[in-house]
Amino acid sequence: MIIKPKFRGFICTTAHPEGCAYNVKEQIAYVKSQGKVKGPRNVLVIGASTGYGLASRIVATFGAGAKTIGVFFEKEASGSRTATAGWYNTAAFEQAAREEGHYAVSINGDAFSDEIKQQTIERIRQDLGEIDLVVYSLASPKRVHPETGELFSSVIKPIGQAYTNKTVDFHSAEVTEVTIEPATEQEIEHTIAVMGGDDWERWMKALQDAGVLAEGVVTVAYSYIGPQITHSIYREGTIGRAKDDLEATAEKLTHLLEGVAGQAYVSVNKALVTQSSSAIPVVPLYISLLFKVMKEKGLHEGTIEQMYRLFAQRLYTGSASDLSLDDRNRIRIDDWEMKEEVQEEVAKLWNQVETDNIRDISDIDAFRQDFFRLFGFEFPQINYDEEVDVQRSIPSLAE
Ligand code: NAD
Repeated sequence: MIIKPKFRGFICTTAHPEGCAYNVKEQIAYVKSQGKVKGPRNVLVIGASTGYGLASRIVATFGAGAKTIGVFFEKEASGSRTATAGWYNTAAFEQAAREEGHYAVSINGDAFSDEIKQQTIERIRQDLGEIDLVVYSLASPKRVHPETGELFSSVIKPIGQAYTNKTVDFHSAEVTEVTIEPATEQEIEHTIAVMGGDDWERWMKALQDAGVLAEGVVTVAYSYIGPQITHSIYREGTIGRAKDDLEATAEKLTHLLEGVAGQAYVSVNKALVTQSSSAIPVVPLYISLLFKVMKEKGLHEGTIEQMYRLFAQRLYTGSASDLSLDDRNRIRIDDWEMKEEVQEEVAKLWNQVETDNIRDISDIDAFRQDFFRLFGFEFPQINYDEEVDVQRSIPSLAE
């Protein structure tokens, strides 16, 4: 079949297996071009198929030589429907990992459920015995509570009052103004239930109760802060409340893990184009300006560069002081994004940006390209006019 992108707004319903595989190969090549990481041995990545979770898995495998179990929620191809990008990514990742003799096993299902937690624990018991790193990198719009069955939906809204600011349609590069009405109390609670720390805590408790956490285990979850421009919609909005809850959970978990001398951290990562961040109003315009400024200053990074730096220069340097935690005990791998010289420049451009000048003063075309690359499109190395087989199997799921 010839596969073209089918998209509407920030949703793309097709994915290209060769393009996704190319993307994964490039990430692996980057990690191999860097030094080895004296990292973890047995790693569980929850949310392992795209974005920061996939990059974490690649660094753990090809940087540290770790065995990995990856949990995610993806769809395989059926008939003429392509698989999701995360499915193709994982098929390519597992194949590359196995070719080099690395253990890599995947579990496809709802990570919020007790069933998937138990299935994962069984697999750890059977194959690895214990885990010494748990990466929690879920991003989901919905969660079914495992005990009550209640369905929670997260929203991206300001709190207290309506918020108006510039935004961009990254397909047409049109800059407009958007107003988002404030969230209700229930929407705030639901967003915390989906993207807060409750499920991370449930995972860690389940793993601890099962006795599969190694002495000195580390767990890390990902957060975001960002600049003043996006605070009303992000950090001080509904999703920010969920991140507050996630960050508070790290402290609770460090207590929970005292018995195995474990540590729980939150790493604040850089804003990047992923399926999740493209969906947030205002943020794509900020990212387009940010990328332009960071590229000009030679500071630009993608998910793989961010995760390599997190592992090699923060988590596994062999010295606790190298974590450079902030006053709220968070790892800051967004340090380059938040540099004063970067933020001052972005703020200046933010005031100037409009439809007529966006292509000159921002990296909007790169944003759009990065968006399509998430689904395996827009790689000049791939011939998109060629017939491809949409079926790809993930070796560990086919066994
Ligand atoms: P992403 O959308 O690329 O990845 C989400 C992952 O979660 C995928 O592997 C997906 O399969 C999995 N997933 C979703 N629902 C699931 C479910 N019910 N069961 C199992 N797996 C499920 O997201 P991302 O942007 O890499 O975000 C990961 C984390 O990083 C989030 O906490 C996010 O807030 C944070 N973060 C993102 C950015 C950014 O700019 N993208 C910046 C800083 C922090």
